[in-house]
Amino acid sequence: MKNNNKYNPNSKWFQKLIDLLNDLAQGKPTNIGKIPKEKFLNCNREEQTQLLKKMLGSLIREAQVSRYGNILCFLPHGETFEKRPSMEFDEENSNLHCWACMELGKTKDIFDIIGYVFNMNSFMQQKLKAIELFVEDGVSLANEMRVNSSKRNTGYQKKMERPASTEKAFASTTGRYYKLVTDDQDCLRFLEQRGITLESAEKFKLKFWEYQGNKYLVIPCDTQFYTRRKFKTGQGDYPKYWKKKDTPVSLFNGNRLVEDNAIVFVVESALDAIIMEQIGFPCVALNGKDHYKSLIESCSWDTFPIILMDNDPAGLTAGLRIATELRKKGVHCYLHRYPQKGIIDADFLSKFKDLGEAYVEDPTQTMEAVAQIYDSAYAVSLIQPAKEKSIDMTSFSNPLEKFGRADGRN
Ligand SMILES: [Zn+2]
Repeated sequence: MKNNNKYNPNSKWFQKLIDLLNDLAQGKPTNIGKIPKEKFLNCNREEQTQLLKKMLGSLIREAQVSRYGNILCFLPHGETFEKRPSMEFDEENSNLHCWACMELGKTKDIFDIIGYVFNMNSFMQQKLKAIELFVEDGVSLANEMRVNSSKRNTGYQKKMERPASTEKAFASTTGRYYKLVTDDQDCLRFLEQRGITLESAEKFKLKFWEYQGNKYLVIPCDTQFYTRRKFKTGQGDYPKYWKKKDTPVSLFNGNRLVEDNAIVFVVESALDAIIMEQIGFPCVALNGKDHYKSLIESCSWDTFPIILMDNDPAGLTAGLRIATELRKKGVHCYLHRYPQKGIIDADFLSKFKDLGEAYVEDPTQTMEAVAQIYDSAYAVSLIQPAKEKSIDMTSFSNPLEKFGRADGRN
């Protein structure tokens, strides 16, 4: 079969990976350890897929790709190939992502690569090929499976197809180019100034982007949306928050809302949400106080949002509007109003514009103030009348336990 798939000739690691795959296909000796047949046969179909998927790590190591930093993307970028590396290997998930030519969330795994190298379009073909290459006695095993599948005749091919969510089209060149935050000293300094740890940067897949001397922190959000926050000004008049065109604004960290009995902070900016998560509280960000529609949509009767908008009149107005909209939907919430200065119990946060500013000033006092808000909200959440479904109070776990704060308080 003729293979017309073009790959980047400058991408040495990919050439090496192709050589390895060809050696394996021809039964030549390599340093790639095979998956024991016994082990493979004792796994269910999904576990087998995962075992095969993991082999990309072995191949990458054998091709001597650094596990740190980016590598040259092997795919064509439009008519040409890239010269500056923007592909990244995710060891944990055994896949590759290119910041220049793939949409956020899209990746390539070993099956895609096999499809590309051996010109196979269906996942079933790719998986059988992977079995041949990576499992002990794989050729006869794959042949047995081929025979069995044709005997069964129905359903097999369908079951071997991957779910639509992992469908990966070869994306067109976008011209965007995101780097690791560790690639830029200014970016690292910005994160440090904002109190954001490298651990958080990695957890939330923050990236660095430079455009005409303007430097941005890139924050991936839900449903392919990402927000870019300028931290250094270069040429031209580019916005402080540069949102991706054609993609509606969505929540940051919205998954927190679908957890059972979720008591979740809601803040305006993604950077504040990251700080909150760092402190140990679940938090989503609206990405701008006016973008609360997706919040309302994502909340169900057993979500309990703690609305913590910025400490200014616009923030309070937005908070009240959100609380009203939630109530209309039958969702109870807790709206934090910053106690006025001069009142004895004025909390630490009241002195600042937002959570981020308070945190930079004093992390400990900020944590204490946040914990107090959480405790108040938690108390309120317990006395709300249960809607639609009755809550069994005995199984209503104390969320403070989850964050290791249950003891030592109150
Ligand atoms: Zn690429």
